[in-house]
Amino acid sequence: MNHLIPPHGGELVDLMATHEERARLKAESVDFPSIDLTGQQLCDLELLVHGGFSPLRGFLGRADYDSVLEHMRLADETVWPMPIVLAVPQATAEGLSEGSRVALRDPEGTMLAVLEIVEIWDRDRKREAEAVFGSLHEEHPGVRATLDDPGQVCLSGKVTGVQPAAHHDFTELRYTPADLRSEFTRLGWRLVTAFQTRNPLHRAHKEMTVRASTEVGSHLLLHPVVGMTKPGDVDHYTRVRCYQAIAHHYPPGLMKLSLLNLAMRMAGPREAVWHALIRKNHGCSHFIVGRDHAGPGSDSKGNPFYGPYEAQDVVADFQDDIGIRMIPFQEMVYSAQRSQYLPRNEVAEGEEVLSVSGTELRRRLREALEIPDWFSYSDVVAELRRAYPPKERQGITLFFTGLSGAGKSTIANVLLSKFLEIGGRPVTLLDGDIVRKNLSSELGFSREHRNLNILRIGFVANEITKNGGIAICAPIAPYAETRRKVRELVAAHGGFIEIYVSTPLEACEKRDRKGLYAKARAGLIKEFTGISDPYEEPENPEIAIDTTDLTPEEAAQEVLLYLENKGFLA
Ligand code: ADP
Ligand code: ADP
Repeated sequence: MNHLIPPHGGELVDLMATHEERARLKAESVDFPSIDLTGQQLCDLELLVHGGFSPLRGFLGRADYDSVLEHMRLADETVWPMPIVLAVPQATAEGLSEGSRVALRDPEGTMLAVLEIVEIWDRDRKREAEAVFGSLHEEHPGVRATLDDPGQVCLSGKVTGVQPAAHHDFTELRYTPADLRSEFTRLGWRLVTAFQTRNPLHRAHKEMTVRASTEVGSHLLLHPVVGMTKPGDVDHYTRVRCYQAIAHHYPPGLMKLSLLNLAMRMAGPREAVWHALIRKNHGCSHFIVGRDHAGPGSDSKGNPFYGPYEAQDVVADFQDDIGIRMIPFQEMVYSAQRSQYLPRNEVAEGEEVLSVSGTELRRRLREALEIPDWFSYSDVVAELRRAYPPKERQGITLFFTGLSGAGKSTIANVLLSKFLEIGGRPVTLLDGDIVRKNLSSELGFSREHRNLNILRIGFVANEITKNGGIAICAPIAPYAETRRKVRELVAAHGGFIEIYVSTPLEACEKRDRKGLYAKARAGLIKEFTGISDPYEEPENPEIAIDTTDLTPEEAAQEVLLYLENKGFLA
């Protein structure tokens, strides 16, 4: 069967302009309206221009779109499963007309391509979501992204590449389809099996990919997606370091690593067909489809969005038309008895198999627990441990909130000294009054300004936390919604501990350290929190401290005990 596959991928589209054309388009573009591309559109454009999306020569028009949604083929019956459209908000489309030329720009403003508009039409996002994802379930990340996409009006037509997309990370691993094809020729690789992934790889994956390529007598292309994957996935920098680590464990000369700047949609079976086509364009003859290929897993009730081997059935139907062979693979599991990996369907009845789920792996990383040798390689695990340090090495934000005079700054200052004494992490104090003198000196105390002030503090705290430091924030932060936003931002990168200093108004007013309450009562200060402006009490703070009958040292010890107890100081 192998001889039926054209060597290295078939016809390849190349939309990049010649040197002269590029200069001309750049000169002419002063008059062009511009579109700033979204993350997904940037990825799509790159694959269009260098032919990763062959045979597409531009963003889909209406007839192709309808046909793709209907039966995974373009209007001329060529297999193409994914609606690749340039959809923009209504307001952006105003003033554009058929025949006009538009500059497509990256976020820095560089013109990457020019689109000559042939057709302007409206997409039906609901119908599209249902066709592409086979579901309208709002927990499906692809469904949600499609329904929430502000792009409504689609622009289609001829795309001409002007400037290759700029990538500054792992540049030596970014091969275009043409690069890969000539690389395979240079290496003398006739048959190449591609493996798609968006996760770190462990022993099971290595076993599977080596078995698959051995089965068909091919070499192996490890082709991970580094464009956009499922929200919450391990970031691609960490993953690529893991791939580089595992590369050393493959038989010499068998495998090549190349990065694919694809924006995944998580569309399961349909996406598997798309992935196969893209790999064919990159010069591969075979493509591995494993369990739940490109599926987003299960919903919150535990119901999977797609059947575990549904993608294999669909790719099987299309592989001849595409011109690539699928290698279907069962999930690989570890048999303790035999000390080896096996496809699940080869496990004998009653034979014990071991596995470590993604969730369990993350837990072990977070808690610095052992990760067994049979599961992964120590150099891969070391990369993951660097990216997911245990709590004692994570950054932390201590976010104090409470009325003026409640004791936030006083406790914060005690903690600053304690952390400097303990050492190990850089510490920054973002006290309300200090921030207002520096970062927010132009702001007053309206709701809008207070929110802005807190969001600025949150931004700085997040940067500090991301980099492994301790940010101690001590603003009043009277509004729950803004505190929630800061929590959401920071919690993704380290510890976020909200400390409600709940000292009642009477006690704060009695202290009146700065004489502000007296002035507020006399009406000399307007919008004073607790007197003439609201304070929304936190509902679920990690710590609540009423300082009325405590010393500052005692209050600070409550916080330190909490941190010790949660493993942040161990
Ligand atoms: P905030 O920063 O919440 O506006 P400050 O820390 O500036 O409040 O003021 C709190 C006042 O209360 C200080 O004068 C401080 O000495 C006094 N105080 C008394 N007991 C405590 C305590 N246990 N924790 C913090 N401050 C206390
Ligand atoms: P917020 O969290 O509301 O932005 P900050 O903690 O940044 O508040 O600033 C509060 C500090 O500013 C208080 O400790 C007090 O010293 C001073 N202040 C001046 N006017 C007001 C006011 N109208 N309301 C609250 N604090 C005020």
